[in-house]
Amino acid sequence: MSPITHLARPAYVLVVDDTPANITLLAEALSPQYRVRFATSGPRALELIARNDELPDLILLDVMMPEMDGYEVCRQLKEDAATRDIPVIFVSARNEVSSQEHGFNVGGVDYITKPFDLPLVRARVRTHVNLKRRTDLLEQLANLDGLTGIANRRRFDEVLDLEWRRATRTESPLSVVLLDVDHFKLYNDHYGHGLGDDCLRQVAAALAEALPRGGDLAARYGGEEFAAILPACDVDGAVAVAERIRAAIEQRRIPHATSKTAAFVTISAGCAGLQPLFENRHIELLEAADRALYEAKRAGRNQVCST
Ligand code: GH3
Ligand code: MG
Ligand code: MG
Repeated sequence: MSPITHLARPAYVLVVDDTPANITLLAEALSPQYRVRFATSGPRALELIARNDELPDLILLDVMMPEMDGYEVCRQLKEDAATRDIPVIFVSARNEVSSQEHGFNVGGVDYITKPFDLPLVRARVRTHVNLKRRTDLLEQLANLDGLTGIANRRRFDEVLDLEWRRATRTESPLSVVLLDVDHFKLYNDHYGHGLGDDCLRQVAAALAEALPRGGDLAARYGGEEFAAILPACDVDGAVAVAERIRAAIEQRRIPHATSKTAAFVTISAGCAGLQPLFENRHIELLEAADRALYEAKRAGRNQVCST
């Protein structure tokens, strides 16, 4: 989800309490400013979170509940990387320092004592929701390339590591494609850096459009080099994808008067794919793709090679 669409929606607050009257009270206090959902037990809350793609921006979690108490729910959320960053505010009639301290120790960000003062509940929820959304936004921006808006090198490295480990586990293939704009130095020299930047934006857009599959990642690898990660795709599949990208950029017919390859902007691509067997060997995959890219350049550019 893009940062902007994410911020345009009201935040999602999950209220977990075994007493329906408390849920009603909190839901009334927090809607319509927030999208409020509720669960009446710890296990139901965990199930609701696991079942939905959208994670809560904040959880108001009752401490004393039969079956599983709030501390245990929080502990389980903090154990799982997928749910670790959801802020949890504990809600409890127990106001001793030791209970509140325990709440912070298991990972809560705040502690509200019952009976609630609704204006204070609203103020605390607002504070933590705003913090959470700023953190999310920064996290997303830190993963995007400033010029093109697609993933940056940092994100590429992170996803490659993740997908490599996943492929090792699931015994499925993994491919990468490295792409490099042909004669881009000549493009800059002729058209200037500003148009050079525009050209890179167009290449990034064509690359992103050519990768409609949810699990694929398009990234700016650096300078005028781009990259794609293709999970569950073997090298033949990667070559087909790379050819689609190459053709898409060629079809944009971006004028390149000084190119030695064509009258318009073209790219060369190198593909590599394999079935990862060992952890931490993704460097080899990148090196293989880089060798293939070098081969594509050597063989005349505007083409796709693989190893
Ligand atoms: P080849 O076909 O062998 O890839 O030749 P090339 O000229 O594309 O390769 P080279 O590596 O010699 O030049 C890359 C150029 O890309 C040089 C650099 O100024 C330009 N470049 C790198 N990053 C940017 C950028 O962010 N904006 C612009 N406008 N140019 C960039
Ligand atoms: Mg280059
Ligand atoms: Mg180049």
